[in-house]
Amino acid sequence: MKEEVFDITIVGAGPVGLYATYYAGLRDMRAKLIDALGQLGGQLTALYPEKYIYDVAGFPQILAKDLAQNLISQALQYNPEICLNEKIIKLERIEDEKILKLTSENGNVHFSKTVVLTLGIGAFVPRKLDIPDVQKLDGRGIHYIVKDKSIFKDKNILIVGGGDSAVDWALNLEGIAKNITLIHRRDIFKAHEDSLKKLFNSSVEVKTFYELKRVHGDEHVEGATIFDNRTGDETYLDVQHIILCLGFLANLEFIQNWGLEIDKNAIKVNSKMETNIPGVYAAGDIINYPGKLKLISTGFGEAAIAVNCAKNFIDPASKFFPGHSSDFVPKKFKSG
Ligand SMILES: Cc1cc2nc3c(=O)[nH]c(=O)nc-3n(C[C@H](O)[C@H](O)[C@H](O)COP(=O)(O)OP(=O)(O)OC[C@H]3O[C@@H](n4cnc5c(N)ncnc54)[C@H](O)[C@@H]3O)c2cc1C
Repeated sequence: MKEEVFDITIVGAGPVGLYATYYAGLRDMRAKLIDALGQLGGQLTALYPEKYIYDVAGFPQILAKDLAQNLISQALQYNPEICLNEKIIKLERIEDEKILKLTSENGNVHFSKTVVLTLGIGAFVPRKLDIPDVQKLDGRGIHYIVKDKSIFKDKNILIVGGGDSAVDWALNLEGIAKNITLIHRRDIFKAHEDSLKKLFNSSVEVKTFYELKRVHGDEHVEGATIFDNRTGDETYLDVQHIILCLGFLANLEFIQNWGLEIDKNAIKVNSKMETNIPGVYAAGDIINYPGKLKLISTGFGEAAIAVNCAKNFIDPASKFFPGHSSDFVPKKFKSG
């Protein structure tokens, strides 16, 4: 075989895949990191670069894009091979079942002794609203992702949704926007308790049992009509931007034929992050096991377990416990 066979190939360069890549370097494994997007960082850079994160250990508050940058620096110190703009569509075993072969949509192939799948929510497809004017003004005042907070400066904003994204954006844009209204179709929110406490103590006007009925404007959003879903009463809001935080549709169709056991639209793993395919591990938002939390902090731990198991898989004589990171001080941190 002409192509290099890597010790470990990590598919998905979100926070969990980046941390797995660092760990692979720490365990002296020749690693490759592949992502479908043209940039590293997964949801942190693609969906909410300007949002603050408060629940990653060691960082009382950090912007998503800064956390991504730190993870990238940490991951790159052992010189992994990076392949961007490559959506993996096929995973199979070849050569007497010893090597795993990954094929991307553009026809490139990758060979590896082990694979860690950190695919997150797969391809990011925001859930859309079936209201004609919403589609017409998509990108002209209608947003699903916030990439640049400055466009909201001194504007009136409507946020639709009751999950973490909606609540986080309302809090993150407070003080930037002129005023913010958040509507949710129920009075039960899915956001963190602490964020909700902050929301109800903020200047954001929260309207429960309200839904979006119509968007106004020709070239750009100029207003919105919302309605009370208990009474049908309509209210007109003078807003220039509407952020729709209705969740993302997980598109995992592409892994259906990989032979992986799927549980609740996620890859089933055991406590060693092993999938049902020997040598194939998974970590982060893509997995499910009893007690799974889809958070960055839990994903980091899963990545460490997956990589240490992968090391042990290709070298059974190696210790499972990696030792402490200070036993392997990277060159750039060595004094003298
Ligand atoms: C608005 C918002 C706010 C959030 N706030 C927080 C927070 O405050 N704290 C917290 O802990 N979590 C938060 N989260 C959740 C957090 O972002 C995720 O838990 C985390 O990103 C999961 O990391 P991951 O590496 O598993 O997946 P992802 O970040 O989703 O990365 C997966 C990567 O895999 C790539 N990929 C997918 N399929 C393929 C394929 N077939 N081939 C190649 N590449 C592929 C994708 O392009 C992507 O880059 C938030 C999420 C959102 C949307």
